[in-house]
Amino acid sequence: MKHIRQFGGGTAEGRASDKALLGGKGANLAEMAAIGLPVPPGFTITTEVCRHVIAHGVGHYPDGLEAEVGEALRRVEQLTQTTFGDGHQPLLVSVRSGAPASMPGMMDTILNLGLNDETVAALAARSGNAAFAWDCYRRFVAMYGEVVMGVVAPSEHEDLAFDRIFDDVKRRHRAHRDQDLSEAALREAVGLFKAEILRATGTTFPDDVRTQLWGAIGAVFASWNNPRADYYRKLNGISSTIGTAVNVQAMVFGNLGDDCATGVAFTRNPATGDSELYGEFLTNAQGEDVVAGVRTPEPIAALAAKLPAAHAELVRLAKVLEDHFRDMQDLEFTIQRGQLFMLQTRGGKRTGRAMVKVAVDLVREGKLTPREAVLRIDPAKLDEVLHPTIDPKARPPAVAKGLPASPGAAIGRIVFTATAAAEWAQRGETVILVRTDTSPEDIHGMKAASGILTSRGGMTSHAAVVARGMGKCCVTSCTSLRVDAPKKTAAIVGGGQERRLKEGDTITLDGSTGEVFLGPAPLVPARLGEEIGTLMEWVDSFRRLKIRTNADTPSDARTARSFGAEGIGLCRTEHMFFQPERILAVREMILASDETGRRAALAIILPMQRGDFAELFRVMDGLPVTIRLLDPPLHEFLPHTAAEIDEVAAALGKPAAAITAKVAELTEANPMLGHRGCRLAITFPEIYEIQARAIGEAAAEVAAEGVAVHPEIMIPLVMVPEELRRLRELVARTFEAALGGANIPYTIGTMIELPRACVVADQIAVHADFFSFGTNDLTQTTYGLSRDDAGRFLPAYLEAGVLPSDPFAVLDPEGVGALIELAVRGGRATKPGLKVGICGEHGGDPSSVGFCHRAGLDYVSCSPFRVPIARVAAARAALADGRKE
Ligand code: ADP
Ligand code: MG
Ligand code: MG
Repeated sequence: MKHIRQFGGGTAEGRASDKALLGGKGANLAEMAAIGLPVPPGFTITTEVCRHVIAHGVGHYPDGLEAEVGEALRRVEQLTQTTFGDGHQPLLVSVRSGAPASMPGMMDTILNLGLNDETVAALAARSGNAAFAWDCYRRFVAMYGEVVMGVVAPSEHEDLAFDRIFDDVKRRHRAHRDQDLSEAALREAVGLFKAEILRATGTTFPDDVRTQLWGAIGAVFASWNNPRADYYRKLNGISSTIGTAVNVQAMVFGNLGDDCATGVAFTRNPATGDSELYGEFLTNAQGEDVVAGVRTPEPIAALAAKLPAAHAELVRLAKVLEDHFRDMQDLEFTIQRGQLFMLQTRGGKRTGRAMVKVAVDLVREGKLTPREAVLRIDPAKLDEVLHPTIDPKARPPAVAKGLPASPGAAIGRIVFTATAAAEWAQRGETVILVRTDTSPEDIHGMKAASGILTSRGGMTSHAAVVARGMGKCCVTSCTSLRVDAPKKTAAIVGGGQERRLKEGDTITLDGSTGEVFLGPAPLVPARLGEEIGTLMEWVDSFRRLKIRTNADTPSDARTARSFGAEGIGLCRTEHMFFQPERILAVREMILASDETGRRAALAIILPMQRGDFAELFRVMDGLPVTIRLLDPPLHEFLPHTAAEIDEVAAALGKPAAAITAKVAELTEANPMLGHRGCRLAITFPEIYEIQARAIGEAAAEVAAEGVAVHPEIMIPLVMVPEELRRLRELVARTFEAALGGANIPYTIGTMIELPRACVVADQIAVHADFFSFGTNDLTQTTYGLSRDDAGRFLPAYLEAGVLPSDPFAVLDPEGVGALIELAVRGGRATKPGLKVGICGEHGGDPSSVGFCHRAGLDYVSCSPFRVPIARVAAARAALADGRKE
């Protein structure tokens, strides 16, 4: 069996489609080589070998691998006319990890491998630049010491020993910049690095180049299982069994002098989607310098002045690659003595806004069809486009400015370590992670933070890339910011003054401008751009599912309508009861001792509800409005404090003690399975009666104004058909009487949220015009899992992989989904045209929307801000199964 694929030097034993076998980096290196781009030659050890190592243990390779590596290395030697380990013309290689799914910064890459005291002398002689050779050597020893030999930083606050030693060497040799160091200084650094390796690990740095190579290959495979990689995989739902490939590639050098450079570029602006080559470079540097934030890089445009020929070639190849892959690319390149080499290309991570703009622009440029563009949209990422921004009319003065690395606005309290960010967020605080720069160890803190601010690093630094991927606001390279993480303070200096910040202070970031504000700045909802309108037109032409919204207030309904909601799928009437001026009447109703008392209280509520419904009907003119009659356990409305009890007692003319006793009497052991939903109306019919009357009167009132009203009255928590039969009769009679002769089409249906209701759906359908699955309660009752208590153990289930995902966030297709399918079949067996939808949190989750499409539902209903996401998810589901009907 073959464990290796070669690329470069006129050969390509793989293509971009081989990502599973070659990893993303290896497959695209092969693809670039195949289409004739300048790629330094090398080879890829396949992911199969990694899986072998995962199964058999670190250091255990399949038979024949060593011989294959030897052979592939000889080809690279021939192509480069150098020899690995040779004392005259040494070959240096990079050893690069590359998994099938992109895992930025997770796995480790080693550059300049093949250097020892002998080959470094040869490199110095051949290049005529001893400082260059020793610069390569010091980089290699440090990277090898860290990645392969396991030298680690003493703590989260301290730098790696190599960095400390290097800073010290720089200071002693009075060099401000890395590239100012002399050969002697670099020699000294190498010696100190090796001594540090011996001190920290008890092992000597290996001189033998083959030992180096196999050490590096082994470390890349082993790094597959490091905790950071594991965490990233969990976060992104990447399987832990696929493994990584290893790429071994001849080095090209960006650190030979000022006619050399290294950089990264996006073929379009990854924050805005604008069509411009966008990126950064450093002259006289090697790869990791640009992303590590060691020096602040220059924008790509400046390359045109410094190295015009190489810049022109880069612009040309960027276009070749974008046209070839028909998508925005993220490129890594190195210029060696004026000559450009491509080292990596991949689909570029982008903000939600850029995602939309690039997809729409590619269609306009004739490179994609609308269908392909819609399939490129990650519905969850649209969320970002809808995020609030800082109110332009009430913008406070900025105290600092960095680079706008990832857009959106974030308000939060400052923390200085990833651990603190995670802890504070756990406590419910909104935090902003403030650091000099971030590294892969900070991922959990970045995830927990609502925004990230760094003093160093550019637009392509770790912080910037990861934040964009997570859709988080991020400002980098805020140079007036001085961070002192151990002391948990920072300072913003400039204009002759210094503003001190400490842990817990609130700041606001604007990731679209790079500005930093002290305290909370006022936010306004996002404005949708022109591209998203175009995209949504395509989306709507592909989808079959209707998208409605869950809205209880006119302002939510208005927002949802502006986002394209096609009606209200769930109006929870109880939310209207909680308003301060109403809660007393509600309490009076609950605590009344008889029907007369309840009716007296309901009479106060009636006009208020009527007004609520009328306003919703007006906003939703022409669209259906589903109103759910009272659902929650009554105890949710009960007075608890002494003051509340006194207030109710006074209103009812009863002693406080009587009220306290009544409250105790109403307390339930298991309220979610208690006296709630339609059970309330079976015992107290006047509650639904008043609500039905309010809906009817409101409908008649607005219809008279010329509004097209489509009320759909929904009865919750039905477990037996008889409940619905009785309540339907009551509601219909009251509603029609309330219309006072107005001719308004209406329907009465039920929420299906108990397993029993799913099973007897055929009988329930006899009394229902529609079903709406209340998937929150249905999940709760199917799993026998209380949503309020699940927090104690659900995280452990997810962590251990006992459950693949939180069933309250992602609809469980096998259990809950099977019940939904059963109910749809049963319901439609009785009434073929039965309208069926879902309401609940799942309506805004893309994979759940996909399920609803496949289950043949008519609509999903979700919160206003998720309406566009659901529209896209519905279109993608329809495109994926190739049918609209
Ligand atoms: P990552 O996955 O972290 O981006 P890479 O394997 O892409 O790691 O390596 C990081 C950087 O190292 C590259 O962008 C490039 O600048 C540099 N590099 C890798 N291989 C070579 C090589 N053969 N010659 C010169 N530079 C290289
Ligand atoms: Mg890379
Ligand atoms: Mg419910």
